[in-house]
Amino acid sequence: MHSNQNDVGEDGMSPLASVLSAMPEVWHSLLAQHVPDSSGRCVSCRNSGTAGVPWPCTLRVIAEDARDLNQSVEGLPGATPCGLAS
Ligand SMILES: [Zn+2]
Repeated sequence: MHSNQNDVGEDGMSPLASVLSAMPEVWHSLLAQHVPDSSGRCVSCRNSGTAGVPWPCTLRVIAEDARDLNQSVEGLPGATPCGLAS
């Protein structure tokens, strides 16, 4: 279906996600910052003069990919004691 495979990594992951997966502090802060507001827009990508970016935004998706990559490398799914809640 896709004929252009030059700009994505394996499984369609962004190359940036692969890079970020080695920098947990970066994707962790992205996940914390790029959250939806009450209108379903990203609060970090929104700025004055624009209507906002529908969430999940590009950075959010990349950060989630990086997290998934990081966790798949480091250990078992569900074994992450990070306190993202609240
Ligand atoms: Zn965002």
